[in-house]
Amino acid sequence: MYRAFLIKYAEIGIKGKNRYIFENALRDQIKNVLRDLGDYLVTKEQGRIYIECPKDYDYEETIEALKRVFGIAQICPVMIIDTTEWEPLQKAVGDFVEEKYTDRNFTFKMEAKRGNKNYPITSPEICIEMGAYLLKRFPELKVDVHKPDIKIMVEVRAKAYIYSEVIDGPGGMPVGTAGKAMLLLSGGIDSPVAGYMVSKRGVTIDAVYFHAPPYTSERAKQKVVDLAKLISKYTGPIKLHVINFTDVQLYIYEKCPHEELTIIMRRYMMKIAEQIAEESGCLGLITGESIGQVASQTLHSLAATNEVCKLPVYRPLIAFDKQDIVTIAEKINTYETSILPYEDCCTIFVAKHPVTKPSLKVIRNSEKALQEKIEDLVNIALDTKETIFIS
Ligand code: ATP
Ligand code: MG
Repeated sequence: MYRAFLIKYAEIGIKGKNRYIFENALRDQIKNVLRDLGDYLVTKEQGRIYIECPKDYDYEETIEALKRVFGIAQICPVMIIDTTEWEPLQKAVGDFVEEKYTDRNFTFKMEAKRGNKNYPITSPEICIEMGAYLLKRFPELKVDVHKPDIKIMVEVRAKAYIYSEVIDGPGGMPVGTAGKAMLLLSGGIDSPVAGYMVSKRGVTIDAVYFHAPPYTSERAKQKVVDLAKLISKYTGPIKLHVINFTDVQLYIYEKCPHEELTIIMRRYMMKIAEQIAEESGCLGLITGESIGQVASQTLHSLAATNEVCKLPVYRPLIAFDKQDIVTIAEKINTYETSILPYEDCCTIFVAKHPVTKPSLKVIRNSEKALQEKIEDLVNIALDTKETIFIS
């Protein structure tokens, strides 16, 4: 019965002079997710975005797509009436109730908005008159203005909009309104969730994956590509850089104490990621780290990894319990892919008893053993990176 949607947004509403930037970004993101589904008309008008659907559109598929657009607070399927004249409008609201609710044993409340203050009837008057009309036409209805089962909403603008259903959107801010950051994307559970969360605040995402062939397989890499595809349904297109990290890792393995391997390796990951980030205009790094989850994520270890880069490192999961991360991973559909049992470059070279409280002095000292070749190896890794466009 619906041929259109009314999109409501939350935080964008308080953006003052810059509001149009956020509205335009939201409209563009909506167009992006709907592009492959058909010929939708997306327009922006007085703090609202309207979507008019093509004749043969699929309702469920459209809602699913809109639920992935950050910045949308609510999705309201609406009936659009071309005229705002009172009699036909009244009849249309009645027809709406008749068609949508076959069982009309419910309480309701009318809500009305005038976009155009020249409309001869005020909003409270619309509610009173329309409510009276509905009660007369459907005697089984009852009014409850405090806790209605159903709110029936009418907005009168150039056209009139009637709706009663409100579906929650994902919230957040439209992607593309808050700069770009580089996500360190592994095949695990945490980093895809971290990327999703930062992107939800409007940040565009690029990603880097450290691959260690032949210790890690093509399947492990494919898993990361698949994860990038899954989160790109929310974040929009992602440039995924794949770094061959094998020689750097082997060199660290050869030269440094094994219990410090993970920390030193992670320091080099951060350094490399930062270089790619700077080349691609990213303003920060994102990781899936969470305090205490593993030896390399104690405060001591995080301080040691953090030390090597100048760019801010965003760690949206820092205070999350694992189960809370898993819940989000399930919600955004990355969990099943993340738990596929392929090897990870960090686990292969991992020591039996890694340091949990690395001292910066000790780590820096151990890294001196790398002086001879590490710079060349890092440069080779950067020069040979493969970039995959995910959309
Ligand atoms: P995840 O579930 O995200 O893999 P994890 O709990 O396994 O995290 P670590 O392996 O210590 O934790 O990694 C911490 C963070 O470092 C990850 O969340 C990710 O951002 C980054 N990272 C780890 N390994 C890689 C890799 N091979 N490529 C890119 N980033 C990585
Ligand atoms: Mg991992």
